Amino acid sequence: MTGFTSYMGAALEEAQLAAGRGEVPVGAVLVSPQGDILAQAGNRTRELNDPSAHAEVLVIREACAKLGQERLPGCELWVTLEPCPMCAMLISSARIARLIYAASDPKSGGIEQGPCIYSHAQAHHVPEVIDGVREPEAAALLRDFFAQRRSS
Ligand SMILES: [Zn+2]
Repeated sequence: MTGFTSYMGAALEEAQLAAGRGEVPVGAVLVSPQGDILAQAGNRTRELNDPSAHAEVLVIREACAKLGQERLPGCELWVTLEPCPMCAMLISSARIARLIYAASDPKSGGIEQGPCIYSHAQAHHVPEVIDGVREPEAAALLRDFFAQRRSS
């Protein structure tokens, strides 16, 4: 692909930081149509005592607040794990143009498995989806995190 800049490195860094905080290591980066990073975050559900504080939710809220608008047309969302159904709907509501994710999530994913949110008529806006970008690194982060939790 020409002219394609990867922001997955930044998302993986956020995932790593999340693991350091004892959060499930998922990181996300929201990129403007011009290629500027509008927001980046990792999961903060434990820190904020908020089950909705997924990385995707945090970056969408921050980017919308920054731009003073309720939608993010033309923007890209980079995330290290396949979004859950809640985040998948939010990405649709925000009119995000493209979703790029690393690892798939057979347990809680909502894009290519489970409810397959974007194949439903209720998803009025369907982003372009690219999966598997730097999948091994994102999957290893999650694997190590859960292995460590089980052994401690
Ligand atoms: Zn989610």
